[in-house]
Amino acid sequence: MFKFALLLFLVATLARSSTAATVVSCLEDHGLEVEDSQSPNWMDATTPFNTRFRYIPAAIVYPKKTSDVSEAVLCAVKYGLHVSALSGGHSYSASGYGSRNGTLVVNLRNMGRISPHSSSDNNFVIQSGIRLGDMASELYSEYNRSMAHGTCPWVGLGGHAGFGGWGLASRNWGLVIDQVIAAELVQADGTVVNVSATERPELYWAIRGASASYGIVTQYTMKTQEAPVNVTRFAYNFAFNFTADDRAPERFAEILSAYQNWSFTAPKEIGIVANVWQLGQDLELGGIYMGSRTDFDPIAASLLNATGEPSQRYVQERSWIEALEEVNGVTKLSTEGIPEPRDTFHAKSLVVSMENPLAPDSFSKLAKNFTTSIPSNFSWFIQFELWGGHNSHISSIPADATAYPHRNHHWTVQFYGRTNGSWFPQYTEFVDGLADTLAQGKELGAYANYLDPYLQGWKKKYYDRNYARLEEIRKKTDPSGVFLKSQNIGAAD
Ligand SMILES: Cc1cc2nc3c(=O)[nH]c(=O)nc-3n(C[C@H](O)[C@H](O)[C@H](O)COP(=O)(O)OP(=O)(O)OC[C@H]3O[C@@H](n4cnc5c(N)ncnc54)[C@H](O)[C@@H]3O)c2cc1C
Repeated sequence: MFKFALLLFLVATLARSSTAATVVSCLEDHGLEVEDSQSPNWMDATTPFNTRFRYIPAAIVYPKKTSDVSEAVLCAVKYGLHVSALSGGHSYSASGYGSRNGTLVVNLRNMGRISPHSSSDNNFVIQSGIRLGDMASELYSEYNRSMAHGTCPWVGLGGHAGFGGWGLASRNWGLVIDQVIAAELVQADGTVVNVSATERPELYWAIRGASASYGIVTQYTMKTQEAPVNVTRFAYNFAFNFTADDRAPERFAEILSAYQNWSFTAPKEIGIVANVWQLGQDLELGGIYMGSRTDFDPIAASLLNATGEPSQRYVQERSWIEALEEVNGVTKLSTEGIPEPRDTFHAKSLVVSMENPLAPDSFSKLAKNFTTSIPSNFSWFIQFELWGGHNSHISSIPADATAYPHRNHHWTVQFYGRTNGSWFPQYTEFVDGLADTLAQGKELGAYANYLDPYLQGWKKKYYDRNYARLEEIRKKTDPSGVFLKSQNIGAAD
């Protein structure tokens, strides 16, 4: 029996490596830059951001232009391989590597250029292989422009814009997908198409929330804004002593409930997150106000009137780019010359709607949970990100206007646990336990950019009522599943 299994494994390995070899020849015949298991850099090239997930591609190709992407897709199709785009590689579960072994990975690192759009000073054509830090930095330094997008400089535009793309300016300007005017897409048959409100509107709808299922977006046309002159950075910290003070869980719940109630009417210029760090000894309400400190002060007073006095306050006026750097804790946003960071973690998200806010006792139960059952050699955080409220741009868009569905969204709550090396099941259980405690049995949605590969019922949780329409479009554009992988449209629930 064992010999037979070994034989099957060897046959499968040989078959895989001969497919890899032929696809590599096909790519090289087209003059494309390729790496495979023979390359000296293979180990590094295949190590994802979350080191818990490692898939071995058939090969990695590095296109320099759209026609290269098209030829790469055709080579993969010719040899029966699945294709996956890799932009910044910052997926939570290495989905850019195809979520299985043997995929042709199209690494877009050589396609990260920004150029002003010919027809408008406000619009820019941005290639999808750019990282958010490089994009923010270049838009600001070369053109004095800005956009709403996520905070980590290393995240790639390709994945981030594919599933939503939230940042501290999003309540004011929308998610990244809300700033997409048009896109260029390489499809499963290698054809290159433009999508916009007037050209292939169904695909334009689908790529704004689920792009990875429809092809490889090579570039976006994005609406940008003049960089704000004044941004007010703020952070209010509330200290707790959970071990010595029995009332601490109730006080923790009071503050989060006050923040939740206040945020329904918060002005759209506020981007705010409640961060709870390791042990929950500190809760920080921090973010940016897109305006002067004078305008911010009365808004802050209304928040602190609701929460009570913090133990520490920090408020400073900054330029747009300084505020982004400070939020990220970096002195420059450009990633050039900085070694690629990596982490070992598990994360979950919950989407809390405006109609169904969280009850105060879910916060106090959460506090009791995280103070009693923490595994050793493990750190964690929870973020209560404000996406909605009555004044938010995100909530002003109908749920069926883009593939991203959660427009009645109030908070996205993110639970993240990490270690410096090995991973044990109790770490995953701890993170899942925090999310379950907060949800209290409610079936809440989830955010597809905070990808959770173990999520049950992901079709409904990520895409809600938009899933059926997404599946219809995918059946027409990728009937043989060239881009199919775990949690892409059409995969098993
Ligand atoms: C440290 C960190 C901080 C983060 N902060 C935020 C945040 O503030 N806000 C937020 O909204 N999200 C945030 N995220 C989540 C992030 O937006 C997603 O993980 C995102 O999908 C990563 O994109 P990527 O291009 O780096 O990843 P990749 O692994 O390259 O790609 C992720 C997915 O997108 C697909 N994809 C990539 N490029 C393309 C393309 N050009 N065309 C089609 N499909 C493509 C891939 O195939 C894969 O399925 C954060 C993630 C990390 C790790």
